[in-house]
Amino acid sequence: MELTQKPSKVNAMADASKAVFYFGKDGAEGNASMKSILGGKGANLAEMISIGIPVPPGFTVATTVCGKFYEAGKKLPETVWQDVLKNVSRLEIELNKKFGDVKNPLLLSVRSGARASMPGMMDTILNLGLNDETTAGLALISNNPRFAYDSYRRFIQMYSHVVMNMNGSILDIELEDLKDARKIQNDTDLTAEELKKLCDSFKKKVFENTGKRFPTDPIEQLRGAISAVFESWNTPRAITYRKLHEIPESWGTAVNVQAMVFGNRGDDSATGVAFTRDPSTGEKKFFGEFLVNAQGEDVVAGIRTPQSITKIDSEKASKDSGKKLPSLEEIMPQAYKQLVEIYHKLEKHYRDMQDIEFTIEQNVLWMLQTRTGKRSAEAAVRIAIEMLGEKLITEQEALMRVEPQQLDQLLHPTLDPKAQKNQIARGLPASPGAACGQIVFTPEEAEKFSEAGKKCILVRVETSPEDIHGMIVAQGILTSRGGMTSHAAVVARGMGKCCVAGCSEIEVDIDRQELHAKGHVLKKGDIITLDGSTGEVFLGEVKTVEPRLSGNFDALMTLADKYRRLGIEANADTPHDARVARKFGAEGIGLCRTEHMFFDAERIDAVREMIVAENKADREKALAKLLPMQRSDFIQLFEEMKGFPVTIRLLDPPLHEFVPQADAEIEVLADKLGVELGRLKSKVKSLHEFNPMLGHRGCRLAVTYPEIYAMQARAIAEAAAELELKKGFTIIPEIMIPLINTAKEFHMMRQLVETEVNKVKKQTGAQFKYLVGTMIELPRAALTADEIAIEADFFSFGTNDLTQTTLGLSRDDAGKFLGNYVQAGLFEKDPFVSIDQRGVGQLVKLAVDLGRKSKPNLKVGVCGEHGGDPASVEFFHRAGLDYVSCSPYRVPIARLAAARAAIQK
Ligand code: ADP
Ligand code: MG
Ligand code: MG
Repeated sequence: MELTQKPSKVNAMADASKAVFYFGKDGAEGNASMKSILGGKGANLAEMISIGIPVPPGFTVATTVCGKFYEAGKKLPETVWQDVLKNVSRLEIELNKKFGDVKNPLLLSVRSGARASMPGMMDTILNLGLNDETTAGLALISNNPRFAYDSYRRFIQMYSHVVMNMNGSILDIELEDLKDARKIQNDTDLTAEELKKLCDSFKKKVFENTGKRFPTDPIEQLRGAISAVFESWNTPRAITYRKLHEIPESWGTAVNVQAMVFGNRGDDSATGVAFTRDPSTGEKKFFGEFLVNAQGEDVVAGIRTPQSITKIDSEKASKDSGKKLPSLEEIMPQAYKQLVEIYHKLEKHYRDMQDIEFTIEQNVLWMLQTRTGKRSAEAAVRIAIEMLGEKLITEQEALMRVEPQQLDQLLHPTLDPKAQKNQIARGLPASPGAACGQIVFTPEEAEKFSEAGKKCILVRVETSPEDIHGMIVAQGILTSRGGMTSHAAVVARGMGKCCVAGCSEIEVDIDRQELHAKGHVLKKGDIITLDGSTGEVFLGEVKTVEPRLSGNFDALMTLADKYRRLGIEANADTPHDARVARKFGAEGIGLCRTEHMFFDAERIDAVREMIVAENKADREKALAKLLPMQRSDFIQLFEEMKGFPVTIRLLDPPLHEFVPQADAEIEVLADKLGVELGRLKSKVKSLHEFNPMLGHRGCRLAVTYPEIYAMQARAIAEAAAELELKKGFTIIPEIMIPLINTAKEFHMMRQLVETEVNKVKKQTGAQFKYLVGTMIELPRAALTADEIAIEADFFSFGTNDLTQTTLGLSRDDAGKFLGNYVQAGLFEKDPFVSIDQRGVGQLVKLAVDLGRKSKPNLKVGVCGEHGGDPASVEFFHRAGLDYVSCSPYRVPIARLAAARAAIQK
């Protein structure tokens, strides 16, 4: 106690054994930078105190105690407990109240707060310190028995559930029954006498259900509550959340013990939550909800319909619902004014959008929490760009404020405004995007549907943390209760998942598994569509359209381009893909897979004719049919990408992929091609391979049938020549040879291509330049990259095959067991999604270095799925690649990821 009497921040930080940190009228032992010790909530409470914001005093038991608690067999170490008691005394002195006193009792809240915010994961206990005697005392001193007994019944509910592990719904039902019997809707309409009786009956129920008496000793209550918070670190729902958000087990939670302030003290009291900007759209406006005469999570839990904080919002809400609920601005103008001042102060101080919780006790405002607010992708982009404009943050900070992966939400289709729609209800637009799927009513069903490969919409009255596993797999979430800050809304926004919340126009009957809306009765498996941006619910499937990107989005992308070093290209096989890629800002095509052009209905027969040909002459005849088709493909592609590089990969897959396998289809084909059935069958059979991935494919095809690559090289050259001679623009085609193993192999392929291209140039007189390069997708090629680079003009890492061949895992078969690998922690991430940096990544680095040793200006890129994965992009930046190429929709993600990689260095 001596030591902590005159706290200095430096001392508090330096003393690693310090377990309890006080905050109160003389300042705080700690600040916002101490999240790892105080947890997010505790650190920010301390910070708010130190910048002069009204916060009820209290103390934080450090996260470091959480580990010690478990080491001691789920017991609070005695030294820590003594510290807790000392800090309680300090609170008593500051507030001139006494813990457990029957005349003027000090009441506490016991809250949990991990380093990273885990919304709704661990339960808060309010009004701790109440028993029959102290409640009577509180009733007297407040001259408000209704308030005292309301606080008591809440305390019994929370404590019995969180600490004594009693099923929470038992007391909930009892409360509901009482309201029904009294024919009232709101808990605020219960009288003091009724609440008092309810408390007695609650305690009886607790005894019946747990076999234990409800603890009357405040000290015992406190010890129990603190232990329960530490224990809640390991509830299944907390563990699920940590897994989902990659929060380490070892971090632990802090416990915040704080003097109570009361929002349930009458009509001059209230509790609420707010965001300093709109978390859905990012609009710069104060946005929040509150309830008069309420406490704790009432607003979030949807106990009553929450009211808007601002007048504007309440007027808008009244237009939609026809019911005008007064705003905080109107009914408590003083507290409102103060709240506005505080939110400005907080935003300026933290320089980011804040999510705040507050309580008003008899017109006096208290702040109970502030944290960086979760936001939709649209809001993240808008807030970053607008805060940059307001000079609140720097350009680099603006880029770091938007997670690349989040952009995915903005790049995906939304509902077609012109599509036929049958709207059956409208709720709150809680998390934007569009989702369509079959209705399910439980998280378990959602999991079943998703395992069966079916898309589903999880429909609930209101979600709770226990529903997380179902929310993860559902396409979208629909709830009939709860506001914009309800569990469903907050969690869905965090996941980037479409959500319509508080849709009171629907009735959800979980027991009968039915959804009633506008006279329709929908059952499990029926299809609905949600629009999370408008809050609408539609019957059946609604057509979707390409997204339109906002000016803020463009601004962010322009900013990203300013900082990134990596070039961003796209994998595109058709003129349409190329157009999409350009629209998203691709600076070229890093991979055009020519085989995708072969599958076209008009061409596939010529391809098959080529495959079944008996001799070179027949094969060339078939190839001659393909030549003009390929040429026109390339002309279109080059025109679309005017001024940008286009990398074309010559034929890669094994030939069996182009011929039918079923007998009936083989018969039809034999007829069409005029080949004898037996011969065709044996040809198909001869194409069969045990490991096609390692078989006759890539440049190996051209070693056997050089005429195939020759035709493709000619088609590319003729296209380039035609553009140059007839349309007057030159392009530099980059011809890419797949699956090279050795330098000799590459030499042979290069000669093959060069001979053909030079023939065309001679015939036409065209002058265009061209490059011949290779994919690096086999370990041997990576290991001998110095030899290959002597003749190759560029490298492009095919990290899909390189991952397969380095790990010895087939991507097509690994689905069966990769999940187990990730779950068991054998792989941190799916190596086909995010590059295995330690293994495959080493080969990439080695090959870059070896290649550049032979050819210092060698152009090096990557064209696997990894090109669009933010973590992989960061790795490729560090490995010194020149560009990444990814699917068109991921181009903006790659642009941002590349900029962030450059900023982080
Ligand atoms: P969560 O981590 O789920 O946000 P909190 O610890 O913030 O949980 O507690 C939930 C709510 O309980 C708060 O938003 C606030 O309304 C209420 N609460 C917490 N501490 C106090 C307090 N000291 N006085 C009054 N209400 C409190
Ligand atoms: Mg909560
Ligand atoms: Mg909170």
